[in-house]
Amino acid sequence: MLDTPSNRPDLPAEIARRRTFAIISHPDAGKTTLTEKFLLYGGAIQMAGQVRAKGEARRTRSDFMQMEKDRGISVSASAMSFDFKAFRFNLVDTPGHSDFSEDTYRTLTAVDAAVMVIDGAKGVESQTQKLFEVCRLRDLPILTFCNKMDRESRDTFDIIDEIQEHLAIDVTPASWPIGVGRDFVGCYDLIRDRLELMDRADRNKVAESIEINGLDDPKLAQHVPAQLLTKLREEIEMARELLPTLNPQSVLEGHMTPIWFGSAINSFGVKELMDGIGTYGPEPQPQKATPREILPEETKVSGFVFKVQANMDPKHRDRVAFVRLASGHFNRGMKLTHVRSKKPMSITNPVLFLAADRELAEEAWAGDIIGIPNHGQLRIGDTLTEGEALKVTGIPSFAPELLQTVRAGDPLKSKHLEKALMQFAEEGAAKVFKPMIGSGFIVGVVGALQFEVLGSRIELEYGLPVRFEPSQFTSARWVHGDKPAVEKLVNANKQHMAEDNDGDVVYLTRLQWDIDRIGRDYPDVTLSATKEMM
Ligand code: GDP
Repeated sequence: MLDTPSNRPDLPAEIARRRTFAIISHPDAGKTTLTEKFLLYGGAIQMAGQVRAKGEARRTRSDFMQMEKDRGISVSASAMSFDFKAFRFNLVDTPGHSDFSEDTYRTLTAVDAAVMVIDGAKGVESQTQKLFEVCRLRDLPILTFCNKMDRESRDTFDIIDEIQEHLAIDVTPASWPIGVGRDFVGCYDLIRDRLELMDRADRNKVAESIEINGLDDPKLAQHVPAQLLTKLREEIEMARELLPTLNPQSVLEGHMTPIWFGSAINSFGVKELMDGIGTYGPEPQPQKATPREILPEETKVSGFVFKVQANMDPKHRDRVAFVRLASGHFNRGMKLTHVRSKKPMSITNPVLFLAADRELAEEAWAGDIIGIPNHGQLRIGDTLTEGEALKVTGIPSFAPELLQTVRAGDPLKSKHLEKALMQFAEEGAAKVFKPMIGSGFIVGVVGALQFEVLGSRIELEYGLPVRFEPSQFTSARWVHGDKPAVEKLVNANKQHMAEDNDGDVVYLTRLQWDIDRIGRDYPDVTLSATKEMM
């Protein structure tokens, strides 16, 4: 039924219709606005059904506005599920601020594709580029949305060239903008030979679509001013000559990105993008694991934790672990094995993040994200199965780039502090190192804002005021090697050594020179800036 290119014809239909993706962008490009529109259309379809059932087919503008407002609440959720046409979309949110990029990296291990949003006036910005590189490491398929076309934006060819050059990926236009800034009238849909006209008067109105029989169709002239039409014809002719044509396989392999032009705030181009995610985006993909890969169509359920969020209610220490299902058909109440501890867990109250609100997940399929409330048993990187000792791989932990010493305001409370720090370390909110010499803890983060967040959370959730002080170290490296080799390094460099929250040995320093020296003096150990979450 689904008109999609597929390299996995054996997938059950419920799995094949799932598209699990994240949005990557530089702050301000329009990720939030686009997410809202996705939810609006995801919810709108369910709504339309309900409304029609009441014999009230007409939806007014204020209905849409109210829904948008309601949806606004769910925009802050970490994972959102909604239906669009035949598809079930699972949109996994990535924190926007660059200070939380490590969280973002991990989130990207839970998706099968990414939508890259760029601002038509700004092109590829630093954060987009960074996130893109992470997607590339995993060969994630990328679909591109060039936003804010209602404003003065760059020349279309320039934008495409910049993406091709900066990101070294083939770009193929799925639509072509007509006019820029105030003169922007809409897009020519190159996939379906349709004209999409933007309604500036009504931001929530979906674009008017006009079927066009190729670029010579006289109908075009009725809708597009003569000057713009000439330019459009020239540009598309050039584009067809110079730019690669859409190759679905190449998109799935991550070598080519189709680009749609639009304006999220004007609801323009969003549905075409959603169609594109359905049609060209991948179904749930196999998951790398040891000792073997996990296939989504396996009947047994498995999944892995990619994010842990502590409950913001300080009275309860409950946390929600976000689990990406890697295989099978999950039903509420199932018993799964927590592979790290080898203990069974009854998953009695899993949460599915439907666009409307949080709902108990009665069932879920490979590709879905479910939330599992727990008291701290579930950690980032953990695998759940129906018994087999599988371990999902490739969920990285990065060496922090900023280190500070943390002390409890009240020295008698340092045990409490340790407990709080361990919780945040498990959540992935910070790295915690216990130096082998001296007292106190060193906390490592990727961005400075995390210290502030951490400080206020320890105070709020544990009633424990803390002080951060500059640390004498600026870099942390995990030490790998045979036990005797590691011990030799530890014994000769005690003042540099620490253990992280998992008990793994870490080398701390402020000099790259030191790191190089260790490399020369201790050929049997390696210092690494990443480690796999266990
Ligand atoms: P985020 O930081 O990527 O989540 O970006 P937001 O969605 O918050 O958008 C940043 C700003 O750009 C907001 O003021 C939006 O109203 C505005 N914006 C988003 N989409 C469009 C668009 O299509 N056109 C125009 N002109 N502004 C937009």
